[in-house]
Amino acid sequence: MPALHERLVPVYEEVVKRNPGEVEFHQAVWEVLESLHPVVVRHPEYADAEIIRRMCEPERQIIFRVPWVDDRGRVQLNRGFRVEFNSALGPYKGGLRFHPSVYLGIIKFLGFEQIFKNSLTGMPIGGAKGGADFDPKGRSDAEVMRFCQSFMTELYRHLGEHTDVPAGDIGVGAREIGYLFGQYKRITNRYESGVLTGKGLTWGGAQVRREATGYGLVFFVDEILRTRGDSFDGKTVVVSGSGNVAVYAIAKVQQLGGRVIACSDSDGYVVDEAGIDFDLLHEIKIERRGRISDYAAKRGSGATYVSGAGIWQVPCDIALPCATQNELDDVGAASLIRNGCRVVAEGANMPTTPAAIRMLAEAGVAFAPGKAANAGGVATSALEMQQNASRDSWTFEYTEKRLAEIMRSIHERCLVTAEAYGSPGNYVVGANIAGFIQVADAMLALGVI
Ligand code: NDP
Repeated sequence: MPALHERLVPVYEEVVKRNPGEVEFHQAVWEVLESLHPVVVRHPEYADAEIIRRMCEPERQIIFRVPWVDDRGRVQLNRGFRVEFNSALGPYKGGLRFHPSVYLGIIKFLGFEQIFKNSLTGMPIGGAKGGADFDPKGRSDAEVMRFCQSFMTELYRHLGEHTDVPAGDIGVGAREIGYLFGQYKRITNRYESGVLTGKGLTWGGAQVRREATGYGLVFFVDEILRTRGDSFDGKTVVVSGSGNVAVYAIAKVQQLGGRVIACSDSDGYVVDEAGIDFDLLHEIKIERRGRISDYAAKRGSGATYVSGAGIWQVPCDIALPCATQNELDDVGAASLIRNGCRVVAEGANMPTTPAAIRMLAEAGVAFAPGKAANAGGVATSALEMQQNASRDSWTFEYTEKRLAEIMRSIHERCLVTAEAYGSPGNYVVGANIAGFIQVADAMLALGVI
């Protein structure tokens, strides 16, 4: 591992000591601290005021019991989390994840990344993340509803449109947001539409929010290509996952003239050289909550299903990891490089391991970190809050235009900052430093709080 600036070594050591076993959180902190070397040299005032150290400690961590009754009348028990990391720029904002792998370390890594991502959007939102070790897969709608109601029965007291505004993430889509919002409304007796984002269009939701993370990711890649005098036209693209982010990334790549030839779920992946049939994928994965193997079965001889990991073995020009953390490792990166991939952009949060990032950089592959490339989701959530606050609703076209402008501006900020701090073209350095400085300046102004 490359060395950290000497003033950051004790910060990292303290994070590891105070948060034992939370390896994903350690990884997320390391990635940011590594980028901050030139900032510490140029701006010792941040370290003098312990800004970086304070930023690594959440403002508040809430852990709670979530009991609920399943369809057979048995009591089930899960653990809920909300980590309110940093509110220097605005109310806490960040999604909820329902997945059996969720524990405090996952929520902290996501909440920590969210601070810098939200800052990069230029919107007035702080960073947070939450969730539970609940698995919605295989549960009936009634079970999911009872779980969400129990979860919100504790969480509601920590939320508010000026306090903390959650959204979706893995395992939390429109259905779960509906049940959560319903329970919030019932307990508080307030139709506080700005308290959750990702709502349905008829009850306070914003156009394009559903599509925003995937669309935003592709707008960001389009900018990368444009700076290289290139475009999506005729490019082959591999997208991992087939959830909210992946599906709408696939749609936008196709609109811009690219061909997505593979996508996946946690069981396996499908290769379809003719290009993924978006309508079929949408029907199976989004409408029916089916498996990606069903896609191959329905599509017929044109598509091949392969069980297990290995999607990065499929040759492509552009790779978009859109499933989960650490899904693209050194073996996957080696294969992408060998097959001539030119751009990797993260739709998921921290899907690329540190070793894989280093290999891609050394091979000259353009690499866009999730903090910047997938920020379109939370940015559009902030647009949803804006519409809720003013009792307004914008058209799809106008909202998509705003999203595209935000992604262009994030891209520009990354490039300008990377150049200013001596790493031209390095999106990781640009995103981490640009995101950090805005929050750090706000924390300096707000005093020791
Ligand atoms: P969804 O739950 O809608 O979809 C997740 C997808 O990833 C599913 O297809 C799932 O497959 C797949 N997946 C999960 N684990 C693995 C694995 N180990 N290997 C292969 N595939 C896997 O979640 P989202 O699309 O909302 O989120 C995806 C990623 O994007 C996450 O990292 C999330 O934090 C990030 N993100 C999401 C945003 C949003 O707006 N939703 C915003 C910014 C980032 P299966 O069905 O088998 O579980």
